[in-house]
Amino acid sequence: MLSEDKITVFLKLQQAVLDLEEGTKLLQLFLPTVLEELASLGYCYEFLSAIFVDPDHKLQRGFFVDKQTKIVSEKEVIHTEILLERGSSWEMELLYGRPLLISDIKELVDLSFPKFSEIRSLLILPIQNTHNFSGILVLASPASSDKINPEEIEFMQMITRLIDLGYRLQDTESSLTQITQQVYEMNAKLHQLDKLKDEFVSVASHELRTPMTAIRSYVWMALHKSDIPLSQKLERYLYRTLISTERLINLVNDMLNVSRIESGHIEINPKVFDIVALVKDVMEEVKVKAMEKRLSLLVLEHKIPQVFADPDKVHEVLLNLLGNSLKFDYPGGMITVDFFTDGKMVEVSVRDNGLGIVKEDVGKLFKKFGRLDNSYVSISTSGGTGLGLYISKSLVEMMHGSIWAQSEGVDKGSTFTFSLPIATQEVLKESEEFHVRPKGEAKTLEPVAI
Ligand code: ADP
Repeated sequence: MLSEDKITVFLKLQQAVLDLEEGTKLLQLFLPTVLEELASLGYCYEFLSAIFVDPDHKLQRGFFVDKQTKIVSEKEVIHTEILLERGSSWEMELLYGRPLLISDIKELVDLSFPKFSEIRSLLILPIQNTHNFSGILVLASPASSDKINPEEIEFMQMITRLIDLGYRLQDTESSLTQITQQVYEMNAKLHQLDKLKDEFVSVASHELRTPMTAIRSYVWMALHKSDIPLSQKLERYLYRTLISTERLINLVNDMLNVSRIESGHIEINPKVFDIVALVKDVMEEVKVKAMEKRLSLLVLEHKIPQVFADPDKVHEVLLNLLGNSLKFDYPGGMITVDFFTDGKMVEVSVRDNGLGIVKEDVGKLFKKFGRLDNSYVSISTSGGTGLGLYISKSLVEMMHGSIWAQSEGVDKGSTFTFSLPIATQEVLKESEEFHVRPKGEAKTLEPVAI
């Protein structure tokens, strides 16, 4: 049975281990506490010492407390290099986790210290776990080694296990700190790479756009302004070149937009404006394309309150939604734009009676490159990038709105609806919240209009 004061000391030290905080210097703070507490037990030991070694068993730090002063100091009183000499029988015993009782102490303790002349034996306990040997606890006794009772050894073993626990906890914490540090560093690198990627996309897009725009203009002129008659074959070739160039310009513009959105270089400049008028303007812009495909356009006008949003960005969203309806509606179909309001938001819906979307695919629409299999044939001829709806969603959300799609299924048409805040007094009072300023340096490149 352990005596009450030993139990008290053990519990105290156990609490001290549990209280070890991240970054606590176990060697500097906890070990001296252990020695102090053990010395307070009023042992017959002449001195107690806790010694820590490095992985090569070379002395790292040693603490010492003697019976008289009970003051812990950093001092080496044991010749660790002899005790822990590689391959020695002492070292082997300790490595196996067994306590050592040594009677012949002459070569181990610096007996020139006057107070050590009384020492007759040493009890040495390893501080170790299965993976590591981190140190030893040394108790120097004036009694011969056979006088040290097993219960005493057991108690000291409990203490070394506690020290080891503290050591391991500290190890875990320091490796956690290391991991956190590594994660931070990797994050910083990723950010840097991401920035480089953004810059690359931006520069590459710009470099691509200039010649592409020139190609498109010259092909268009060759098609429409030629002063010599074109053969049917040549006209077909030129027309295909024009379509492909437009597709490329679309792709580059979309990539540039995505890069800007993701790098936070987009700017939202909200204004109070009439959304119905804007819709009518955009309808005018797409009229020619609608006529080419024999599609009718219809705006269902209502009295709708003005919205507070960035008209350029709303224009972009509308162009994308109407552009999709033009792509996926069947010749002879109808595209209808309708409005709805609940007093807080205005909803604008773009409906077509074309290809439609299967229910399971509705969730994929607004993801990056969210082109759907059912429409693959159509997009292969219409030049989609699968980025338009992702960009639209990002823009609408930046303007405090939302966007969603509905369809009854294949060939049943689709309705895309987005909402924007009404320019109420309340909204205008908080107008600053609706602005989005570009992070850092704003890019000056603008997408090319086709
Ligand atoms: P894309 O440039 O390919 O049109 P979007 O992001 O605008 O890219 O659209 C993603 C996909 O959503 C399209 O490829 C198409 O599969 C589907 N989609 C979008 N609008 C419609 C629509 N009005 N009718 C049917 N499918 C549509």
